[in-house]
Amino acid sequence: MRALIVEDEPKVASFIAKELQSHAFAVDLAADGEAGERMARSNTYDVILLDWMLPRKSGIAVCRDLRRDLPQVPILMLTALDGVEDQVNSLQAGADDYLSKPFDLVVLMARIDALLRRSKGNREEGQKLSCGDLQLDHDARRVTRSGQEMRLTAREYALLRFLLQRKDKVCTRMEILEQVWDTLFDTETNVVDVYINMLRKKVDKPFTEKLIHTVTGMGYVIREPGA
Ligand code: CA
Repeated sequence: MRALIVEDEPKVASFIAKELQSHAFAVDLAADGEAGERMARSNTYDVILLDWMLPRKSGIAVCRDLRRDLPQVPILMLTALDGVEDQVNSLQAGADDYLSKPFDLVVLMARIDALLRRSKGNREEGQKLSCGDLQLDHDARRVTRSGQEMRLTAREYALLRFLLQRKDKVCTRMEILEQVWDTLFDTETNVVDVYINMLRKKVDKPFTEKLIHTVTGMGYVIREPGA
């Protein structure tokens, strides 16, 4: 699970981030509306927490603009204002839910859980990814190739899922690091290559058709056989 927190108060941001991380989320932070919108557009998030009052671009404007292009991503607005009008505005701008500050972390997590359950129901299709005879069922956390079940570690699974979500698009090592690992490693690190190799041993080696390809000098791509 990956979450984006768009919040300009560092203390609040890190308070929420810690809680999400303790619930096994990978967390990205943005401190203003423009940065938040840019990150939301260039990454895939399971949930976005969006503060109402933000520098550069307000939370409500970010929400409205994101909603137009990313109808599926769950957005939870965080507002310091407790007025009914602002809550209505949040929902009209396309937020899935709102929470008035200050809030209890238990309530925040309950709201996020509810949003995730709802969006999972809405995106049942998106939970099943495939490439050739390789299938990933995210609800069941199950990967099969030619009907054969594959045992992947959590990290291998996350890596494969990311490649499948971006099928036919080259993923750079940096993108993979940012999406699959929460920490930004030194760019010299070969951790991505190591994991790609482990994944290949399970996903490609026993089969004739190779799905995971190296794009020299760029990164990796998963492609339909024969493509
Ligand atoms: Ca704020």
